[in-house]
Amino acid sequence: MTTKPAAAAARATVYGYPRQGPNRELKKAIEGYWKGRVTADALRETAAGLRRNNWRQLADAGIHEVPTGDFSYYDHVLDTTVLVGAIPERHRAAVAADALDGYFAMARGTQDVAPLEMTKWFDTNYHYLVPELGPDTDFSANSAKQVAELKEALALGLTARPVLVGPVTYLLLAKPAPGVPADFEPLTLLDRLLPVYAEVLADLRAAGAEWVQLDEPALVQDRTPAELNAAERAYRELGALPDRPKLLVASYFDRLGEALPVLAKSPVEGLALDFTESAAANLKALAAVGGLPGKRLVAGVVNGRNIWINDLSRSLSTLGTLLGLADRVDVSASCSLLHVPLDASAERDIEPQILRWLAFAQQKNAEIVTLAKGLAQGTDAITGELAANRADLASRANSPITNDPTVRARAAAVTEADVRRSQPYTERATAQRAHLGLPLLPTTTIGSFPQTGELRVARADLRAGRIDDAGYEERIKAEIQEVIAFQEKTGIDVLVHGEPERNDMVQYFAEQLTGYLATQHGWVQSYGTRYVRPPILAGDISRPEPMTVRWTTYAQSLTSRPVKGMLTGPVTMLAWSFVRDDQPLGDTARQVALALRDEVGDLEAAGTSVIQVDEPALRETLPLRAADRAAYLAWATEAFRLSTSGVRPDTQIHTHMCYAEFGDIVQAIDDLDADVISLEAARSHMQVARELAAHGYPREAGPGVYDIHSPRVPSAEEAADLLRTGLKAIPAERLWVNPDCGLKTRGWPETRASLENLVAAARTVRGEL
Ligand code: GLN
Ligand code: ZN
Repeated sequence: MTTKPAAAAARATVYGYPRQGPNRELKKAIEGYWKGRVTADALRETAAGLRRNNWRQLADAGIHEVPTGDFSYYDHVLDTTVLVGAIPERHRAAVAADALDGYFAMARGTQDVAPLEMTKWFDTNYHYLVPELGPDTDFSANSAKQVAELKEALALGLTARPVLVGPVTYLLLAKPAPGVPADFEPLTLLDRLLPVYAEVLADLRAAGAEWVQLDEPALVQDRTPAELNAAERAYRELGALPDRPKLLVASYFDRLGEALPVLAKSPVEGLALDFTESAAANLKALAAVGGLPGKRLVAGVVNGRNIWINDLSRSLSTLGTLLGLADRVDVSASCSLLHVPLDASAERDIEPQILRWLAFAQQKNAEIVTLAKGLAQGTDAITGELAANRADLASRANSPITNDPTVRARAAAVTEADVRRSQPYTERATAQRAHLGLPLLPTTTIGSFPQTGELRVARADLRAGRIDDAGYEERIKAEIQEVIAFQEKTGIDVLVHGEPERNDMVQYFAEQLTGYLATQHGWVQSYGTRYVRPPILAGDISRPEPMTVRWTTYAQSLTSRPVKGMLTGPVTMLAWSFVRDDQPLGDTARQVALALRDEVGDLEAAGTSVIQVDEPALRETLPLRAADRAAYLAWATEAFRLSTSGVRPDTQIHTHMCYAEFGDIVQAIDDLDADVISLEAARSHMQVARELAAHGYPREAGPGVYDIHSPRVPSAEEAADLLRTGLKAIPAERLWVNPDCGLKTRGWPETRASLENLVAAARTVRGEL
């Protein structure tokens, strides 16, 4: 396909860039500041240097317009809270005393003051700090950070565009402040917030901004008419301001849907839309509103949240279609590049051939620039790039790594019988009762025990060659002995081996499965100074050999009580990895499920009677739009059943979920057909037990009675009270007693005391039955 040059030269831009620096300099500087080893000035200098490097990197790659204000010491939503002066009452003194320390106090809390709550940024693995608002919230503009960063970029001679969280999204992400009635709607504060945005926009205009970007990703979710009205009003009013910068309203992560006509009609100068997975829907909706005459359209054609190279010809064809629909079309990534690592070329352990399939932020810059050039000057100007891209795509498509005939044949042959247990739950329950002989209200834990410093040292020693495999194995076995002995002594009914051999519940399995890649430098911000290195699900998945059996059987050899096998489920394996984009997610999940099914089978054959398959991410990856959820839940629950349905009726399958409210996925939880589910519930006073009961959930459940997120030790009486509350919703024959989640982040002293209390509570309440 040959594209003719576009009328107005297309420009290349991005909405945001990884903050950490090539060697996570930002993390080191901030943590050093917290420990008193780095001064505030030194921290500020490091940050300014990183911003400068990022802008230079973008400009050198040929990006025409760079973002500013996307940098953050912790989180851009917290920065917005500062920008609009919505500092919670309890943090005001700290912020007044020292802006930087007050900022970190809001992010992390102090000895005396709780931090803001943290939650997931849409369906990404980035977490933001939730604004707390109430009817008394007074906003005030504080544009210093935005203005300063804009000036820094302008001083480098760059064309710069400040990026802010938009007012509608900011309010929709907020929650009622403590003490404010739970039904308070932050969106009712819009009229009070808009004048503050007006002031910020005026400040940025005065500082030299031609354009300002307002991010409104909340508008890609299902919105009520009232919410859409609020968006209409917000951009009518901001659009009507005199002497303001041009406004670019950005959407990403999904299609704009019914918000598109609202924004298309509004008096803003530009819209940014996601043309990756939602390309078809956004194109159709754009055509339906007659395009964006007179407006700038920024087309997010390069996926900003995965790590695969772009199909440049396909993107050019999308861009070509868009040319007819707007006044001017610019090229970008679909969202901020914050969600991908910095530079694929830093990876030394990935084969060069495979490395060519990968695009981290720097490689995405080049793609965006190439596409803008192709759009502006015609495909003839980029023939070399297109040919190389075609070769790389073909290498990926035809590679034995992405096409394992054995895996494909097996996945294609899965039948309905493979995703169903051989007997219904009631019959299984009878068989399991006879087989396991557990008391009423059986006690168990979720899997991990404290990950002590010694364990981390052992792993580091193994990596550095200071100990060999046998030496490492000895240390792990010693830990398992300790964990088993403790559980026996405490009187726990279903034991765990404690997961001492696992660094991370996804990485541990990814390292052992064929088809997964690990990176050395692929860090992505999870929250604040916490960065993760998600493994890359690159090819067809298979399991060359058992992954967990020797640890579980070793643990079982030490006790006559049942020891649970412990696996990470297929949905969570996908959710916490970079996933393939060359086949439907459901197909990838099915391959992972088959590998896990083999592991489940091997555990059972080795004598394991209870096997837990964790799916904490089931709720997390729920699509943003309700219309897409049924299809997701269908493949997600099927993958879980595929991994667990091959067992005998008397083998008990457990699952575990945490981090979320589950009210809206109880049907999906039911569809997993697990015999037992443990769930986070202590902080919500067993809310989930009531939700399961209301649904008529027929199987066994262990709503957590010990909040493991805090070092606090629950008393036996407190745990017993929670159990009594649980019993009102779930009958004693089906109620389990367990903590909210794994104990790996806890210390031994509080773990010991808490589990002793948990067992005492179970005994007390059993006596009352
Ligand atoms: N089995 C895991 C553990 O106990 C579960 C962790 C999780 O749910 N996040 O650590
Ligand atoms: Zn958990």
